[in-house]
Amino acid sequence: MNSKQLLQIADTYGAPVYVYDAGKITSQYKRLTSAFQSVPRVKLNYAAKALSNLAILRLMNSLGSGLDTVSIQEVQLGLLAGFRPEDIIYTPNGVSLEEIEEAASLGVQINIDNLSILEQFGSKHPDIPVCIRINPHVMAGGNTKISVGHIDSKFGISIHQTPHLLRIVELTKMKINGIHMHTGSDILDIEVFLYASEILFDTALHFKDLEFLDFGSGFKVPYKKNDIQTNVEELGEKLGGRFNDFCKEYGRSLTLAFEPGKFLVSEAGFFLARVNVVKQTTSTVFAGIDSGFNHLIRPMFYGANHEIVNLTNPEGKERYYSVVGYICETDTFGSNRRISEITEGDILCFRNAGAYCYTMASNYNSRYRPAEVLWMDGKAHLIRQRETFEDLVRGQVDVSALFERSKATTK
Ligand SMILES: *Cc1c(COP(=O)(O)O)cnc(C)c1O
Repeated sequence: MNSKQLLQIADTYGAPVYVYDAGKITSQYKRLTSAFQSVPRVKLNYAAKALSNLAILRLMNSLGSGLDTVSIQEVQLGLLAGFRPEDIIYTPNGVSLEEIEEAASLGVQINIDNLSILEQFGSKHPDIPVCIRINPHVMAGGNTKISVGHIDSKFGISIHQTPHLLRIVELTKMKINGIHMHTGSDILDIEVFLYASEILFDTALHFKDLEFLDFGSGFKVPYKKNDIQTNVEELGEKLGGRFNDFCKEYGRSLTLAFEPGKFLVSEAGFFLARVNVVKQTTSTVFAGIDSGFNHLIRPMFYGANHEIVNLTNPEGKERYYSVVGYICETDTFGSNRRISEITEGDILCFRNAGAYCYTMASNYNSRYRPAEVLWMDGKAHLIRQRETFEDLVRGQVDVSALFERSKATTK
C-alpha cells in the first residue's frame, strides 16, 4: 500500500484507524507454505489472537489456512467466519475442564497442556483424540547458544514429566493424535529451533496414533529496515528435510503444522493517527497524537519499536520527536524518532500494526476503539466501525434510582 492510499482511507473513514493489506497477508501465507513445499502435508493454523476481525479470519480461510484458537470465543469466531471445526485447533492455557469439553463438543481439535486436565479429560472422554502441548525447555541464549530454560513457564507439559504423561495415556486409554510445542520465543537462530524440534520428535516416538506434529510459531518479522528476521526458506529446507526423515522412522506420513500469527499479519497492518499538538519543552519536542496505548499498547507493554512515518509531509526535513498519546499516564509510542517535520493535523502511520494491536485495544480513559479497514483488490472496505458512546455504556446497568433514594434520605 502507498501513502496516498493510506491518506485517502484516513480521509474517508477518519483517524485513528487500522488498515490491513490483504495482498501482504496473502503473500506471507504463500511464502511460508512454499518454504515447506518439500513436505507432502503442511498445515498453517493462523493464530487468531493476533488479529481476530471476522474479515481477516475469512481471508485466512479462503487462503486454505486453519485456525489456532486460545479461547472458546475465538473458536466461535472461527466457526462464524466459516472454518470447519476440524480446521480449528484449540490451544488454551489455564482454562477449565468445562470450557475444553465445550470446545470438544463443537468438534475442534483439542490441545491440552497440563497433566491434571489431561487425566480428567482422558478419563471422561477416552474416545476424543487429543493433542499434547509439551514444554521442551529450550530457548535461545544471549549469544544464540542453546540454553535450557523456561523452567518457570506456565505453558506446556514438561518433557521431564513424560513418564507421568505416558502413565495417564495408558491408564485412560485416550488417543493422542498430535504433539505440539510453542516456545513463544522468536525463531532467530534456526539451530535452536531445530534442537527443540528433536525433543518434539523424541516425544512423538512414544505415541503410535499420531496424525500431526505442531511446531507452534515464533517467526520473527522485521520491524525496521535491515532488521533481523526468521529465514523461513532456510528453516523450510532444514526442518522440512528432517521432518520427512522422521516420518520414515515413524512409519507414517504425518502433517507438519505451524501456528503463525505475527508472521502473517504484522507487516500487513498500518495504524493511522492524527497529530493533535506539537509541544516543545525544555528537553524534547513532543508530537501528541489523537490516540494512546488504549489503541496500540505494544510500545508501552513490550517496548516494541513500531516505525513511525509522517504521511502528510513525507519529503519534509527530518527532526527528532517523541511521539506520545493522550492517555493520562506515561504513554509513549517512540522516543527520539527521526520523522519528517510534523505539523499539527498531520497523519502519522505506525507500521507493523497488524498483529497484537487492535486485539489488545481497550476503552481506557473512556475512549472509543478505532475503525478497521481492509484493503483488498485495490479497494478499501470498512470491516469494523469506530465505537460510539453507546458502546461505552452497553452492558452497564442503570441503577440511578438507588441514588435518588439515598439523596432523599440524607435530606
Ligand atoms: C500466540 C500464539 C501463537 C502465535 O504466535 P506469533 O508469535 O504471533 O506467531 C501460536 N501458537 C500459540 C499456542 C500461541 O499462543
